[in-house]
Amino acid sequence: MQCDVVVIGAGTAGIAAAIAAARSGAQVVLLERLGSVGGLATSAMVGTICGLFYRNASTARYAVRGFAREFAVKLQKASRTEPVSYAQGLHFLPYQFAALQQQALAQLQQAGVQLLLHAQVVAVTVEHAKIVTLQLQTAAETFVLMPSTVVDCSGHAQISRLAGIERIEQAHYQAGAFVFQVSGLPVMAPRLLALNLIRWIKRGILQGALEPACERLSIVPGTLRQGVGLLKLGLATRFDGTAACLTQYELEARSRSMAIIDYLRRYEPDLQDLVIISMAPEVGVRTLSRAQGIQILHEDAILACTKPEDGVAIGAWPIELWGAQKIPEMTYFAADDCYWLAAGTLVSRHLRNLFFAGRALSATEQAIASARVIGTCLSTGFAAGMLAAEQVNSGIWQQAIDKIQIQQVLGDES
Ligand SMILES: Cc1cc2nc3c(=O)[nH]c(=O)nc-3n(C[C@H](O)[C@H](O)[C@H](O)COP(=O)(O)OP(=O)(O)OC[C@H]3O[C@@H](n4cnc5c(N)ncnc54)[C@H](O)[C@@H]3O)c2cc1C
Repeated sequence: MQCDVVVIGAGTAGIAAAIAAARSGAQVVLLERLGSVGGLATSAMVGTICGLFYRNASTARYAVRGFAREFAVKLQKASRTEPVSYAQGLHFLPYQFAALQQQALAQLQQAGVQLLLHAQVVAVTVEHAKIVTLQLQTAAETFVLMPSTVVDCSGHAQISRLAGIERIEQAHYQAGAFVFQVSGLPVMAPRLLALNLIRWIKRGILQGALEPACERLSIVPGTLRQGVGLLKLGLATRFDGTAACLTQYELEARSRSMAIIDYLRRYEPDLQDLVIISMAPEVGVRTLSRAQGIQILHEDAILACTKPEDGVAIGAWPIELWGAQKIPEMTYFAADDCYWLAAGTLVSRHLRNLFFAGRALSATEQAIASARVIGTCLSTGFAAGMLAAEQVNSGIWQQAIDKIQIQQVLGDES
């Protein structure tokens, strides 16, 4: 099967990339190994979109333009939510998982993207520094795609790995987290509930009823509604990406979450109705490996709010590193400002028809701790999709830069 652009991974970056390439006139196939779209935004039940708004003391004002903003405005309406203002002038948008999936599916269909679910890329062939074939596997068949260009939005630069190309490896583990939804929380001010939760868990740990690792449980801000909310359990154990480690990680996260809820229901009088109503299908692993681009996004460029000439996407979230501590280490850039991601961070250094976006774009460990948030994934995804489509049209992806910049970076702020 031949096509112009193949996008791997229907997370938020892949959804944006596929829509961008299709709107640019390319024939697009979007491949997803799971049975649903959204990537971590739905499979890890992330719950809030960061990186959409400027950081400032007053109300939420969009930093992203073009598709990222269009997507967020529609999603806010469909989710019936409002942006939440948080500490240090940060703002983010809570969303409903089903609304995100429905909206993505409608927009993909409208753009004419061919979506293949339960289709995992398992092998890649390369000739003369170009990807020639992708081998796909489903439950019943194995088949081959022959794309003109490829956009890797797999989250871990899987295409580079399968092609045997060096990636940018993660030196320090960025603690993952497991999210689940509960009902039966007492109705009170969110901040008070958050403080009470800390107190209840501490009591359990002091009594020896809960493991010390349970202190990493918190409420996902902005998700509480009438006693229903998302709880997030941080996972400090190092994760190396192997099946054995991932299995242990998943099992531990679930059993620890159930133990906490069981303890709280039994021993805290205010929590007798507490019950888990859903659990994320998978543990959220923040970052592992990234692709090597012709440019690498560095933390210095982020902190200086650099706006390179070939800027094609917008980053607006601080550097948020999840290390050994319970809370992340945040490094902020100027309020009311943002940085631009250069096109070269989305274009392969090694293969002439490989582009990438999302949390596996070409960036240092510190820099990806800013650029991995969903708002930026939507922005980089759309830019990478347009670059890939231009490569098919004219053979020169650089020709799309001005157009992308006008739409996605300089577009109307109002
Ligand atoms: C615990 C946690 C909390 C977070 N909190 C927030 C938050 O509050 N706000 C925020 O904005 N961001 C948050 N993030 C970050 C954000 O959710 C992710 O970085 C972002 O969703 C990544 O999107 P993506 O499209 O790049 O990748 P992903 O969402 O990982 O999508 C990749 C997709 O590719 C598919 N895939 C992988 N390999 C293959 C293959 N070989 N063949 C076919 N398909 C494949 C996967 O199944 C997946 O659907 C959080 C992340 C974590 C882990």
